[in-house]
Amino acid sequence: MTDVVTMDKIVALCKRRGFIFPSSEIYGGVGSTYDYGHYGVLLKTNVKNEWWRAMVGERDDVVALDSAIIQHPKVWEASGHLAGFTDPLVDCRTCKLRFRADHIDVSACGKKPSKHPGEHSECDLTEARDFNLMFETTVGPVKEEGATVYLRPETAQGIFINFKNVLQFSRKKPPFGIAQVGKSFRNEITPGNFVFRTREFEQMEMEFFVPPAEAERWFAYWLAERERWYTELGIRPDHLRMRAHDADELSHYSSGTSDVEYRFPIGWSELEGIANRGDFDLKAHAEHARDKLEYVDTASGERYVPHVIEPAAGADRATLAFLVDAYDEEELENETRTVLRLHPRLAPVKVAVLPLVKKDGQPEVAKELYADLRRRMQAEYDEGGSIGKRYRRQDEIGTPWGVTVDHQTLEDRTVTLRDRDSLAQERFPIDALGDELERRLRAAWTSPKLAA
Ligand code: ATP
Repeated sequence: MTDVVTMDKIVALCKRRGFIFPSSEIYGGVGSTYDYGHYGVLLKTNVKNEWWRAMVGERDDVVALDSAIIQHPKVWEASGHLAGFTDPLVDCRTCKLRFRADHIDVSACGKKPSKHPGEHSECDLTEARDFNLMFETTVGPVKEEGATVYLRPETAQGIFINFKNVLQFSRKKPPFGIAQVGKSFRNEITPGNFVFRTREFEQMEMEFFVPPAEAERWFAYWLAERERWYTELGIRPDHLRMRAHDADELSHYSSGTSDVEYRFPIGWSELEGIANRGDFDLKAHAEHARDKLEYVDTASGERYVPHVIEPAAGADRATLAFLVDAYDEEELENETRTVLRLHPRLAPVKVAVLPLVKKDGQPEVAKELYADLRRRMQAEYDEGGSIGKRYRRQDEIGTPWGVTVDHQTLEDRTVTLRDRDSLAQERFPIDALGDELERRLRAAWTSPKLAA
């Protein structure tokens, strides 16, 4: 099986089936902003739920948090975002386009797109200027008198400023973590590649606080854990790699960062960054807030500022990677079958219940089965169109199982259970179906694209 996926095919499928579409379309859209429709919401919710399950549900040492998007402006002073969260920007006076100075070699000249900015005789580039990526707004009824605040560009700082609260209420001691999922905003100069880089996106971040001497060990631990998360959810291992930052790429506070990268059709690109942030953040906030952000062991009296290991992932990027990795086409009965070979736990709909014909008592039995199944998992009932068409519709949204009620069902209470990937069909007793599908949902899974 060759990998047929392209970004254009993903964008088209997402639009066609209402996963993700351009925002404000009736007004002509706003650049690089997207809305998620029904299946997109279900898929991204599953991605986030799997993250919560791995980070919090199945552990004893991580707790959840949901901090505000608008925080005290001093947060961003302390974190260094006000001064340093900038991209170097270059304008072209001729074509009026704006480029990231560090992306010139992958940008196209406005006059002659086959060349890079600066390479055409008419290019007239300005010097690079720093451009802060934070969105600014004001709180208070009168704009002029209000205080300037920022939409958070990452969720992480909301965790650091709550370190003391959590320490007090959660009865945790290092090593322990605080996890958060939520929207972040960055006024990206060159957004693009669908939901890979947008100005409004969701992050899934966890700050893991450890005794300083254990930082290296936990850094290695989280690298392995995060890699495992993606592969267990079906990402093909040969499409995933860990890339350690070179010394000149490292943030000033980081003693080690590795990116989890996925091989998108646009090339290897970051899905998640895992950083050993040392004690930079807690110390910076302690200083700016004139407070103590440290751990004190009540038994030994020992006190220290914990070091922090941060796995920072993007929910939209992960969703895109799962879609890309799952996308497949195959020739079937002289037609191209488009199928999303998603991990069943990520699939927006787990099971479709289909009466073979819309008569002879079949819809009634099918609806009864549907009512039972949908209490246990996301299910869909569909009686419109030929059975082949209905299967194709489910294949396109990645539904792993199709259940068909036919004339035999009315005789022996068995149904046909169809597998999305192998297309195998087996007769299955209706009364055991719910338990069986729940068992399959819990089972380990690997992408059938791997075997091909
Ligand atoms: P990049 O280098 O791609 O701009 P980054 O290194 O600035 O990303 P982080 O600050 O480490 O990103 O954020 C953690 C994660 O949040 C990223 O790995 C990515 O998954 C997600 N993310 C960051 N910026 C965006 C964006 N503009 N659109 C969508 N997701 C984003």
